[in-house]
Amino acid sequence: MKLRTKIHLITTLLMLILLALMNSGVYVLYEQLAINTEYKQLKVRGEELLTSFNQLTDVAVTDPYIVLRAYMPTDGAIRLLDASGKQLSSVDASLEIENIKLELGKDENYAKREIEGTPVIMIETPAIWIDGSVVKLQLLQRLTEVANNAELLKLILIAVTTIIAIPLLLSNMALSRIILKPLDRLNLAMKKSRTTGTYEKIEKAEAGKDELAEIGRTFNGMMEALETNYKKQEQFVSNASHELKTPLTVIESYAKLLLRRGFTNEKVAQEALEAIAYESDRMNDLIVQMLELAKNKENASLSINQVDVSLLLESTVSQMHQAYNRTFEIQGDSHLSVQTDGKKLKQLLFIILDNARKYSEDKIIITTRKQEKSISIAIQDFGEGIAQEQIPHLFDRFYRVSKDRNRKTGGSGLGLAIAKELSKKLQIVINVQSELGGGACFTLLIPFKIEAKQEEQK
Ligand code: ADP
Repeated sequence: MKLRTKIHLITTLLMLILLALMNSGVYVLYEQLAINTEYKQLKVRGEELLTSFNQLTDVAVTDPYIVLRAYMPTDGAIRLLDASGKQLSSVDASLEIENIKLELGKDENYAKREIEGTPVIMIETPAIWIDGSVVKLQLLQRLTEVANNAELLKLILIAVTTIIAIPLLLSNMALSRIILKPLDRLNLAMKKSRTTGTYEKIEKAEAGKDELAEIGRTFNGMMEALETNYKKQEQFVSNASHELKTPLTVIESYAKLLLRRGFTNEKVAQEALEAIAYESDRMNDLIVQMLELAKNKENASLSINQVDVSLLLESTVSQMHQAYNRTFEIQGDSHLSVQTDGKKLKQLLFIILDNARKYSEDKIIITTRKQEKSISIAIQDFGEGIAQEQIPHLFDRFYRVSKDRNRKTGGSGLGLAIAKELSKKLQIVINVQSELGGGACFTLLIPFKIEAKQEEQK
């Protein structure tokens, strides 16, 4: 059964049951009240009859039945019974007294029975008959009026229930439509996504604040994120293959040259082998960096220790100095330590320092400062610098300011992408300040402690 039909059926049925219960309550209450009123009137009549009877014994009036007739209820009867309950006589308006068997129960004020759909009530009162014997007087009353009114009320209630059922049904239909329409849209978008292989969004995502509108917006957001991620992956694969293709083409062409010319021309052979070795190196670096990026994504575990940042910086700088024979000047506060993953921090410092070295020729100044919640390390070089509009893209994968510049340095455009992943894990903020021709300053803000909560989220 469809959800729409289920909602329809259940809500309508529930409301109809409630209505029926309420109406039955009204009906029963009315009937009870009406019978009670009739009973009270009959009781008053009975009391009056008793008074008149007592007067009968004082004042000798001829026929007691005249009194009985005088007090006989309209559409009712009076029965006279002896002490043993045997009927002595009766006066009757319209009831077939003989046929109506009514007995007063223990603690009951009146007895009631339905005769052909009309309730008949009876009250009983003891009396002294004119001959001095104790008799029972029974007053019976047929409640035709009550029955008629109850019948009318029943009809009205049925009519009202039927009339109410129509808007009820319509409102339930509208309600289920309100609930299900966004779900239908969601379903449609998901089906379309599956069949077309695209990232379909819900066309009219509601702007409301309710849960369904929220689901729609979340779905659209999720689809957008998936699409962006997919595009990024696609871009990454295409960039990676492009990057690998260039050195491979160079290697291939030099290898072919060697095959054609052999080693007869030593100069050409030397050049070819140097180019092959250089491009293989580049390819190797590129693959290592790509693997690094992939590893960074999947492996989120950190080994956090108390790390002396000053010492770490010194050892990194000394390694770089030995490798490239460049001057790195460390200034500012010393003996600064934080709780972090030392290995990853060193990797990050290495990327930034290596860039400073690659893209400048002068000395590089490193300034460390203790701040309120973090330690800042500013790495300033005096190279070509980066144009303002390029700064936001620096951390994108394969992004390079200028291909010419990178060809010289052998960069691949993956270094800062790896730095971004590392900084995310270590909760380090990287700020870049630079302008074309004015050098570049990369500042790392390393928190004293990695917040466990954020770490878990990653
Ligand atoms: P690569 O491995 O090519 O250096 P990166 O991701 O490390 O790739 O750097 C991205 C781009 O940012 C490069 O094109 C590079 O030219 C530029 N860049 C990075 N650091 C500096 C710097 N200190 N000075 C000038 N340009 C820089």
